[in-house]
Amino acid sequence: LFRPEPLKRLRDEILETAERRQQEFDELKRLQVLRREFLADVSHELKTPLFAAQGFVHTILDEEEDDEDGMDPATRRKFLQKAASSLDALDTLVQDLVTISQLEKGVVRMRRQRFDLVALVQEIFELLEQQAGRRGTTLTLFPTPLPEAGLPVVADRNRIRQVLINLIDNAIKYGRETGGQVVVSLVAGRESVRVTVRDNGAGIAPEHQARVFERFYRVEKSRTRAAGGTGLGLAISKHIIEAHKSNIRIKSAVGEGTAMEFKLPRPKEVRV
Ligand code: ADP
Repeated sequence: LFRPEPLKRLRDEILETAERRQQEFDELKRLQVLRREFLADVSHELKTPLFAAQGFVHTILDEEEDDEDGMDPATRRKFLQKAASSLDALDTLVQDLVTISQLEKGVVRMRRQRFDLVALVQEIFELLEQQAGRRGTTLTLFPTPLPEAGLPVVADRNRIRQVLINLIDNAIKYGRETGGQVVVSLVAGRESVRVTVRDNGAGIAPEHQARVFERFYRVEKSRTRAAGGTGLGLAISKHIIEAHKSNIRIKSAVGEGTAMEFKLPRPKEVRV
């Protein structure tokens, strides 16, 4: 007797499996493309400062070969300084690459401790004060007056410090050229403190907003590279905030500015 039902079920199962396999295959292909792109990006990013340093050092050596006295000391010094700053950039890039690969492997444990966010932001303002001053940018911490007891949170202080330095540094670098204002506001909710870093710069267009968290993604290649970053800062920051079970939200409007926001948990005993 011909019974179509089991056959139909079998056919559906086969089709379903085939579809699942195809999806898995597509995902693997996508990951492979991403990995290849990442490798190409890394090689390119490493070559830029490496070739620059190599160029400066070889120029000095070539001059010495052509002429016994070599370069005049002032020019020689300038070339050595340029070589050194390219090597510093290379060093920062390698450190960032190590950090991101460890974060992505998930081998980094967050060392949670109780600390005061107000004191941390003040410490970072002091660190970046000169850089902001050179661009005529003011740094402000809200709310005023600050809560006298500070705003304790439980998180990895060093890692959060790294995130805040990155966000505030970006807000200065990509903020308004003159009359820039960078505001960090700390708002305590019941269970967490909301941290917002806001600038009044050029802003980021909607199509770039999610992508700025990708490794090496830059909105304007030349301008932002000249600003001196590795292109890994936001990717690293996103990982760190996600390891704290929060996420970074971006609000930005072209011509108005950008705000980056995340939350950190308050210690249990101060929750009301
Ligand atoms: P970079 O080292 O290039 O600063 P990031 O990962 O920190 O790398 O940032 C990625 C890109 O996002 C930057 O190159 C810049 O184009 C854009 N960006 C980041 N922050 C801002 C901001 N506050 N305003 C405008 N653009 C920004």
